[in-house]
Amino acid sequence: MSDKKSNESLRRLPAMHKILNAEKGRELTEQYGRQLVVTAVDEVLDEVRKSLLSLEKKEKTGASLDMVLDRVENHLAGLAQTSLRRVINATGVLLHTNMGRAVLSKKAQEALLVAASGYTNLEYDLERGERGSRYEHVEKLLLRLTKAESALVVNNNAGAVLLAINTLAKGKEAIVSRGELVEIGGSFRVPEVMKLGGAKLVEVGTTNRTHLADYKQAISDDTAAILKVHTSNFRIVGFSKSVERKELLELAHSKELPLIEDLGSGSFLDFSQEEATVFEVIATGVDVVTFSGDKLLGGPQAGILLGKKEYIEAMKKNQLARALRVDKFTLAALEATLLEYLSPEKAMENVPLYRMLNAPVEMLREKAEAIATEVNRGRERIKVIPIPTKAQMGGGSIPGQEFPSYGLDISCEGKSPMELEGHFRSLPIPIIGYIERERYIMDLRTVLPGEEEVIINGIRLAGG
Ligand SMILES: *Cc1c(COP(=O)(O)O)cnc(C)c1O
Repeated sequence: MSDKKSNESLRRLPAMHKILNAEKGRELTEQYGRQLVVTAVDEVLDEVRKSLLSLEKKEKTGASLDMVLDRVENHLAGLAQTSLRRVINATGVLLHTNMGRAVLSKKAQEALLVAASGYTNLEYDLERGERGSRYEHVEKLLLRLTKAESALVVNNNAGAVLLAINTLAKGKEAIVSRGELVEIGGSFRVPEVMKLGGAKLVEVGTTNRTHLADYKQAISDDTAAILKVHTSNFRIVGFSKSVERKELLELAHSKELPLIEDLGSGSFLDFSQEEATVFEVIATGVDVVTFSGDKLLGGPQAGILLGKKEYIEAMKKNQLARALRVDKFTLAALEATLLEYLSPEKAMENVPLYRMLNAPVEMLREKAEAIATEVNRGRERIKVIPIPTKAQMGGGSIPGQEFPSYGLDISCEGKSPMELEGHFRSLPIPIIGYIERERYIMDLRTVLPGEEEVIINGIRLAGG
């Protein structure tokens, strides 16, 4: 700092009032407000000062007013950009937890906008002109769709299980099969949730085999509930409609214990003969059923509790329910999603989760070929090959249950798959694919209508 030249170049930095009073400075103040612009100028000048101090003497030239203003403008644009952004999911994982799980139906999107842009009758009974319940908006629909006696919606399924355990088994024992003590979706651990709920976990059986007799032996005067957890992935390898549930239920009821079933990702519509739907599980008489609103319905994140009135009513009165309460946005999106299910054929068409799940491979192959033809034309460096791929339901139980899909194998001369991955991730609308056996792949099953254009442009940019 004793260096004369260095001090000089620092002194030559434009002053705050000059920057603010320049034409562009005034425009930025108009757009962003004075206080934010002043902060941005301070931060940019700080950076310029630091880089001047670290430069060799001969390179020090100071900083022009225009250069500082350009940097301030960029800095402000960066500050004003949201961190939560739209991305294109080209992973082929339909319910990707890292990408927000379900894409909502058009009606659910509209319902969100209505809830966001004005006041609502969230807790106001329009017929009686008095205070109402926020849960009523979805409760009747849930009962109609599942024929359950009672329903309650909370923040997510982890919260639903926590509330059920806390209400029915706090300070008591709850029995779970060792084969069901799983970790789901990265962070939902059955034993941890039981502990948080205040119940003592009693494990029975072994990891791969649990018999009815194991449960029977574990029941004591301290037992308050039996918990059954759905460990397999959605739809593909559902648990069977076996006698197991019925037997367990008979045992529980013979000891006057409730059976709680965490269906997690189970199934709402009847896809396959081997998978029990929520409706069927309720019909067998299970006392409390819980599942996720996003994984199971393709709706918003939510935890849905269905079951016997006495148990669900007790949960509604639990203070924990207040802490796990859903907001108006969740309720708006959930109600609109549930309305789709009044007609299962309509739900198949209108809920993006099902539309993607049911898209014929042939259609995806045609899309892949169209994109490849479009980008391969007249381009030497970049090569796109349509290839069969494997999509997954996701949502976090057992990975590896895959179904046929179609996608793009993208390569570019002079770029490694890692570099390609980085390129697509850094686009204005980031595209997230995956690398498999040294190839960069995009799966088209999870790509939404209209996103093909973004992909085509992104691939062109990769070729330079
Ligand atoms: C996903 C899942 C959960 C956790 O549900 P969230 O809605 O993510 O809280 C719990 N149990 C099972 C069986 C699940 O599949």
